[in-house]
Amino acid sequence: MPQLPTELLNTIGMILELFVAVTSALLVAFWIGLVVWTFRDIRSRTRDVFAWFLATVLVLILGPIGWLLYFLLRPRETLAQVYDRQLEEEVLLRDITVRRACRKCQTVTEADWLLCPRCGTELRHQCADCGRPLELDWIACPYCTAPVTAAPAVRQVKAAPPEPAPQQITYTPEVDAGPAPQPGFEPLPEAAAE
Ligand SMILES: [Zn+2]
Ligand SMILES: [Zn+2]
Repeated sequence: MPQLPTELLNTIGMILELFVAVTSALLVAFWIGLVVWTFRDIRSRTRDVFAWFLATVLVLILGPIGWLLYFLLRPRETLAQVYDRQLEEEVLLRDITVRRACRKCQTVTEADWLLCPRCGTELRHQCADCGRPLELDWIACPYCTAPVTAAPAVRQVKAAPPEPAPQQITYTPEVDAGPAPQPGFEPLPEAAAE
């Protein structure tokens, strides 16, 4: 009769010991898992080594409570999210500068317009070599690498059509003046000699 209770007690004791061992092993594994997770998470959210250390130690010491604290206080965005957001902002900013408004009347203008169609303000120059639109403050054409000299570029565009006319005028006097004196000059001495 007294043997049974001791055997039963031993068995219960062993089961309890095993239960405690397994539970504590699981708890330790969970604890370590939380620490590793926190270290990885904080590393993806900041480059500050001190913050890495602080967060990891917090969870190492306080376990689940530390992890909960970290989860509430951690930086909202990961570095990848910050990078994506900055890229988006940059693209938006570039869109705004490309599709910007006329500085005089605020009309929204296209990227290749040379002047504002509403108030006539000059928005861009035309490249003297390739004819593409250039911003007013550019010093060279990004398409054909021609250097930009602001005033001549405008003059050449405007002076392009009448260019053939002066050339024709300069040709005609040369043709008239050239042959005319020569025939007149040579006969004269002959006529004088005879
Ligand atoms: Zn305008
Ligand atoms: Zn060009």
